Amino acid sequence: MSVTGLPPYDDANIFARILRGEIPCKRIAEDEHALAFHDIAPQTPVHVLVIPKGRWVSAADFHAGAGDAAIAGFWRMVSAVAKGQGLEATGYRILSNMGQDGGQEVPHFHVHVFGGRRVGRMVP
Ligand code: ADP
Repeated sequence: MSVTGLPPYDDANIFARILRGEIPCKRIAEDEHALAFHDIAPQTPVHVLVIPKGRWVSAADFHAGAGDAAIAGFWRMVSAVAKGQGLEATGYRILSNMGQDGGQEVPHFHVHVFGGRRVGRMVP
């Protein structure tokens, strides 16, 4: 059990299946550390998901030994994709839900990148 109350990593989760090519996605970028693709149900004009290739359920898995290069590579892709989508000039929001209270549904760590319009203030 991870600290966010999620079960251990499950290779059957939908993002693992996208990483293995079993489910198609609208791919934006991919390298050895991460994959970025358009969300299937965009909530903003630009809504991208960036997922690491590491078998991480949540940020709780960014412990020592998880792989600093992989973690850095993942976050570099987040900012590179935001730039590539033209969001640098106007800004954007990154969001990651963790566990039950965070509303995480897919148990593979991921970051949403929202942009293309002014997004509302966060309310819990
Ligand atoms: P969380 O981010 O907390 O896990 P969500 O259900 O909000 O919970 O996030 C999962 C996101 O993944 C949703 O925005 C959903 O639209 C998106 N999604 C689910 N399946 C696919 C898919 N096959 N391709 C692209 N995006 C997907």
